[in-house]
Amino acid sequence: MTAEQAGAVGVQDFLAPAARLRGAGTAGLAELSDLEHADRLARMREGSLGSVHSWELVTAVDGPGTRMTVFLAGCPLRCLYCHNPDTLEMRRGEPVEADELLARIRRYRRIFQTTKGGITLSGGEVLMQPAFAGRILRGAKEMGIHTALDTSGFLGAAATDQMLADTDLVLLDVKSGIPETYRKVTGRALQPTIDFGDRLNERGIEIWVRFVLVPGLTDAPENIDAVARIARRWSPGSMTRLEVLPFHQMGRDKWAALHMDYTLADTRPPTNEQVRAVRERFRGFGLEVR
Ligand code: SF4
Repeated sequence: MTAEQAGAVGVQDFLAPAARLRGAGTAGLAELSDLEHADRLARMREGSLGSVHSWELVTAVDGPGTRMTVFLAGCPLRCLYCHNPDTLEMRRGEPVEADELLARIRRYRRIFQTTKGGITLSGGEVLMQPAFAGRILRGAKEMGIHTALDTSGFLGAAATDQMLADTDLVLLDVKSGIPETYRKVTGRALQPTIDFGDRLNERGIEIWVRFVLVPGLTDAPENIDAVARIARRWSPGSMTRLEVLPFHQMGRDKWAALHMDYTLADTRPPTNEQVRAVRERFRGFGLEVR
């Protein structure tokens, strides 16, 4: 997840109260009876219900045109620079009916058509809820809407072939090209991301690689080169651009509010010159860089 959420709308603002399940909210699962709990989990497993953090309408980020970006709750990574730590736990999301979300998407169909935009499923990590995401993607494609996934790829194995058939674009976060650095940044292994990219490439699905430039953490020349070599695995017809996203401190207050230990408090955002130099280094590999 990389989009800003300054203007994001809470789930409660876009769904009619009747569409939300009783006991919705952070404490919802804990307050349910065992039977209700089991029923809700079963519905999440089969995808008619999802846990959603928020949504926003954006232009020129998260894919082409004007997009409705939906932030799903839950993520298996723990990126040191995560600027939406409030999306990391699935229980912090609101239960949302897939049909209700699709009805909302339908309302924006004309805007998507006019701007050549669409929907982007983000998070958190969208592939934590593959069945729900699959339903939303299928429903959007039935409406003729462009679809994108914004993912680290760590759970790429959870994406079914049908999901991928319903996905036009994947914004694939390659947070480091060196396994040790990747683990330091995210707490997880790099290889699943590469495997997922390989699978997208084989299927000819468009990929935009995203890389967050963090001084002192991901900016080593050998790391830039390693990310570039990963991006070069995928054909130019599939991997059409690489985006360098400068680290910023805008999520810092959320870490404090959640009483989470934020280790990058003293890390400065990269200068324009540093960002420019890194983009040039990527271009040296023949990549289309933004
Ligand atoms: S992948 Fe990293 S940045 Fe994105 S939500 Fe998860 S922890 Fe945060």
